[in-house]
Amino acid sequence: MRLPRTRPPLMWAAMSNRAPLPPEIARRRTFAIISHPDAGKTTLTEKFLLFGGAIQMAGQVRAKGEARRTRSDFLQMEKERGISVSASAMSFDYRDWRFNLVDTPGHSDFSEDTYRTLTAVDAAVMVIDGAKGVESQTRKLFEVCRLRDLPILTFCNKMDRESRDTFEIISEIQETLAIDVTPASWPIGMGRDFIGAYDLLHDRLELMDRADRNRLAESVKIDGLDDPRIAEHVPPELLARLREEVEMARGLLPPFDRQAVLEGHLTPIWFGSAINSFGVRELMDGIGAYGPEPQPQRAEPRQIAPEEETVTGFVFKVQANMDPKHRDRVAFVRLASGHFERGMKLYHVRAGKPITVSAPVLFLAADRELAEEAWAGDIIGIPNHGQLRIGDTLTEGEALRVTGIPSFAPELLQAVRPGDPMKAKHLEKALMQFAEEGAAKVFKPLIGSGHIVGVVGALQFDVLASRIELEYGLPVRFEGTQFTSARWVQGPREAVDELIAKNKAHIAHDNDGDVVFLTRLQWDIDRVQRDFPALRLSATKEMM
Ligand code: GDP
Repeated sequence: MRLPRTRPPLMWAAMSNRAPLPPEIARRRTFAIISHPDAGKTTLTEKFLLFGGAIQMAGQVRAKGEARRTRSDFLQMEKERGISVSASAMSFDYRDWRFNLVDTPGHSDFSEDTYRTLTAVDAAVMVIDGAKGVESQTRKLFEVCRLRDLPILTFCNKMDRESRDTFEIISEIQETLAIDVTPASWPIGMGRDFIGAYDLLHDRLELMDRADRNRLAESVKIDGLDDPRIAEHVPPELLARLREEVEMARGLLPPFDRQAVLEGHLTPIWFGSAINSFGVRELMDGIGAYGPEPQPQRAEPRQIAPEEETVTGFVFKVQANMDPKHRDRVAFVRLASGHFERGMKLYHVRAGKPITVSAPVLFLAADRELAEEAWAGDIIGIPNHGQLRIGDTLTEGEALRVTGIPSFAPELLQAVRPGDPMKAKHLEKALMQFAEEGAAKVFKPLIGSGHIVGVVGALQFDVLASRIELEYGLPVRFEGTQFTSARWVQGPREAVDELIAKNKAHIAHDNDGDVVFLTRLQWDIDRVQRDFPALRLSATKEMM
């Protein structure tokens, strides 16, 4: 067993010397859940909503969870956009906190959406399956969180089933994710013998009620593991083991340290069973008590602090066709500072124009509610007709630009063909919309007709094809092209023009009209760089 593992200390802006935030902002916790499919994200979300008083009964979110299982069901969910939209961001109150849970897309393939969602949160809850440990998608999502030093709280789920040894699970997290782990609770028994957990942070026994899945666990305050009362609840063999393991864990693993959690060096882990509502409340208390308040936002030319009086925010996601009849879009905006009120005029920095936000949407639980007000840390939805794009910054007049919203290099390129050649114009419209949503990169080659679509993960082609058919009534097919790489071209006008003139067969424009060089050979890219030293070819385009 190689448990202790301490990351070298990182340079980190001291958070402790900041002035306290206004209470309305300080009580907000904005986070996402990261997990591998099937680990229990939907179930846990549902229990969050249940204990947050946002839904009355378990089962309301479940239908949607099942809908994620297959692609066609996923599309069925897309059809019922009302549901999936409110699931994109959910707000609810729990004790004194306001939780904003931002959903990461549920399908198993990667899209840029997933990554960008993580730019809108201050923390992540990592759900792992106690029998499976750290799985591939968890690892990928974790890496993204790590890039931003996001604090991570871990929930080890399905402890009511046969699961792996507790030390083994912790060790795997430490080894594969290179983060220190501190147990916030320790499971008692496992599988059929699982009876609950010992809360190491509050010296409490939490006992699971198997009979009623939605009931909160019985909580027994005890005086440490030597308290004789504990034997009234825990059978002798399990108790002996619990004492031994906890003693070992306390000796081997780092102690809880909020600052280390906030800096992203240390993740507290709770053991539970979401479906049995077990461990969920402790996790929620943990998010509230140890999770971060709304954090400052990186921007140019200056950072934005949440407590600033004026409102700022940025678009991290755009969802179109929420109502197929209206072709409207909703831009999801994370408020970075201030106190927002309905009807406010905000300044759209990229367009250099004011916009009046008269009908913003607040995502209170299962319903879309009209937002009357919102604070830094909250997510609001702004219906619009395409003016707002991912990465856009909104302010009360200052020309700030939020940075760090990633744009990914399209790794797979395919040509898209309409099933009905007469519908090419329609298809173009659909493609432009998906490009603006950030669902794909769309290129129009200079020579020939048709479009080339670039995505990050192969499943995105299927999702796109199905959405185009569903939302626009256009059957399409994707097919291979001679190109495998796309590079955005930047540089002086004359050099760009010369490149275009000499390489017509390789040139395309993206949906913003920017010039893109398409090729299948790295050699080609090197050649252009050599012949046109004034030009810069980049695999991604900075979101503007
Ligand atoms: P998601 O894909 O991460 O959203 O996972 P779901 O929440 O849909 O759960 C996947 C499956 O695991 C479902 O069949 C759930 O009923 C089941 N599940 C979730 N939590 C638990 C748990 O604590 N114990 C057990 N035994 N099953 C669970």
